[in-house]
Amino acid sequence: MEAVEKKRILVIEDEVHIADGIRLNLSIQGYAVKLATDGIEGLEKWRSWKPDLIILDIMLPMIDGFSILKTIRQDDEKIPILILSARGDTKDKVKGLRYGVDDYLSKPFDLEEFLLRVDRLIKKKAWYGKEKKNQVLEYEMFEGNYYDFGDNHIDFISSKAFCIPGEIILTEQEIVLLKLFISNKGKPLSREMLLTAGWGYSKGTTTRTVDNFIVRFRKYFEKNPKNPIYFISRRSVGYIFDH
Ligand code: CA
Repeated sequence: MEAVEKKRILVIEDEVHIADGIRLNLSIQGYAVKLATDGIEGLEKWRSWKPDLIILDIMLPMIDGFSILKTIRQDDEKIPILILSARGDTKDKVKGLRYGVDDYLSKPFDLEEFLLRVDRLIKKKAWYGKEKKNQVLEYEMFEGNYYDFGDNHIDFISSKAFCIPGEIILTEQEIVLLKLFISNKGKPLSREMLLTAGWGYSKGTTTRTVDNFIVRFRKYFEKNPKNPIYFISRRSVGYIFDH
């Protein structure tokens, strides 16, 4: 696999101790982080840096969070925005959602929950990006939060699978491929289609990459990986997931 460029997160927050805490924790998770401490700086950095996700406070000097949100949404409907607000007011929440905010957390928030939400929003963004590039191919993607087959349980919220080796954390590619298999249960999927869905048209990946993932899935989910019953090969076609 190629080295993946760090995802960029812009944090627009004027309370320095909160902003610093967020930056530290997101950096530990492997994200590139920039801070803006007022609305004008926030909009400037959004335009010049082109982040993958914005974490936005509502009460800000110069330009408030809602005005920032409106400005950004006029230009970009898809960039994920997570609002952090000191006000637990449901009116604010509704207003935010109406302006096209993707997620909302009231301060003080739980760090683990915050990181989980950030992770999900970033994955959503990655998926939109791929969708744009591959408009020719239409993928049906499973949209549920959980899925069970055999003795296996997949939790898409926490990106975990409870399967043969026990509890495992699924990678972004594994999640995309599993969702694709699930929504196309019983239908053969070609290696090319799986490759495009999981990796886009990036260089350095071949259909062999897909085969390696299937080997991994069989180790996770099949009682006997050498005699699979869920992830089945179809000669000259690709793979079928069924149960
Ligand atoms: Ca504030």
